[in-house]
Amino acid sequence: MFKNEYLAKVYAEVSKRNPGENEFLQAVREVLESLESVVEKRPEIEKNGILERIVEPERFIQFRVAWVDDNGNVQVNRGFRCQFNSAIGPYKGGLRLHPSVCASVVKFLGFEQIFKNSLTGLPMGGGKGGSDFDPKGKSDGEIMRFCQSFMTELEKHIGQFTDVPAGDIGVGGREIGYMYGQYKRLRNEVTGVLTGKGLSYGGSLARTEATGYGLCYFTQEMLSCMKQDSFKGKTVVISGSGNVAIFATEKATQLGAKVVALSDSTGYIYDANGINLDIVKDIKLAKRARISEYVKAVPTAEYHDGCSGIWTIKCDIALPCATQNEIDEASAKALVANGVMAVAEGANMPSTPEAVEVFLNAGVLFGPAKAANAGGVATSGLEMSQNSLRLSWSFEEVDERLQNIMIGIFHNAFNASKECNKEGNLVVGANVAGFTKVCDAMLAQGIAY
Ligand code: NDP
Repeated sequence: MFKNEYLAKVYAEVSKRNPGENEFLQAVREVLESLESVVEKRPEIEKNGILERIVEPERFIQFRVAWVDDNGNVQVNRGFRCQFNSAIGPYKGGLRLHPSVCASVVKFLGFEQIFKNSLTGLPMGGGKGGSDFDPKGKSDGEIMRFCQSFMTELEKHIGQFTDVPAGDIGVGGREIGYMYGQYKRLRNEVTGVLTGKGLSYGGSLARTEATGYGLCYFTQEMLSCMKQDSFKGKTVVISGSGNVAIFATEKATQLGAKVVALSDSTGYIYDANGINLDIVKDIKLAKRARISEYVKAVPTAEYHDGCSGIWTIKCDIALPCATQNEIDEASAKALVANGVMAVAEGANMPSTPEAVEVFLNAGVLFGPAKAANAGGVATSGLEMSQNSLRLSWSFEEVDERLQNIMIGIFHNAFNASKECNKEGNLVVGANVAGFTKVCDAMLAQGIAY
């Protein structure tokens, strides 16, 4: 798998130290595989043990989260925060609430976040956290009590200059509000310690839209530079129907595309006339209901049980925006057979390594998550800037900065791919560009760091 001995040695050691942590090992392997030409050109990387250090979190916190449900029963969940790397800034990365959250998932997300945050050009280190708490079916009071208990412990480890969490799967504006309120109560201070806050207490305009919009800005630039093309007139399939999927649908539609499918964890909808996003927003954001409800409002649309069938729908552009490993080799082959020209990842690591291989071998334009979905964290960075300045920028100002950041990320990754003699391979390009800045900062700061 690795021709370079140093890379092979580091990967063998990570596998030994983190047995069974498949998601984390998958993320590490992908990054290390991209770094071959870099470690060969720069012997100081091995000499200073950069890779051995970068694969080991600076700090990993696991804690008990006890809370009382509506029936008066005590519930116990497990909370995590992985503070992976602070070489270029305070740890930054979301909190995920989903039953699948475990050490491996939090470490994979935290590891990816190091390079993603570096690519944004903003001074943010990498971190991630969450809990195996399942928000589905919980009352508002239960969500509040869980979030308060979670923050009662997390508060000891975060701060505006240390670690600034945000949302992720299962954590939107409501959850950030409850967590922020608890942090403020405990610390008696008003700081920008979380991003994704409500607009009335320090949130940034365009943060809610940022990951989905940013994904489309990135994809538009990729299409324009690599195929002299655009979203205009294209058929698009998007998985998920949460924060990222909804705003990717909105922007892709504004850019002239027709989005024909969306999904959730139970199934997917297909609307050949183009998804009516107002109906989806009402179902998913206002009612917190299932995507299957869509066909009640639009009887000409179809609903199918199961998630992977969405990738058999013929499309020009696919934007996976649900969760990790949702596109396997068979789904990738189905997309290619149906003539997909571009795939850009809104979710984190939604394509398996085999699927990525299928896309690259077929000449499909492929935007990897750490570049394509960096718009969310970039705008979180802009929220931090506004909090420090005690100012609020207009939607247009934030959106314009977001567009420039996404265009910059594309070119950064594209240029790095050329320098590695892999022109157009944005997996390698994003990993190398993201890594280089963090590596230089680690070298400058000495080994005890
Ligand atoms: P949300 O919780 O808002 O939405 C998640 C969506 O994905 C829901 O439709 C959910 O369905 C679906 N989903 C979750 N788990 C699964 C699963 N195991 N199988 C199939 N579908 C699933 O999360 P976000 O939109 O915020 O996040 C989506 C992805 O984007 C994640 O990978 C996240 O890490 C990534 N991301 C998010 C950012 C952000 O700013 N929010 C920033 C960068 C990346 P259901 O409702 O049934 O659970």
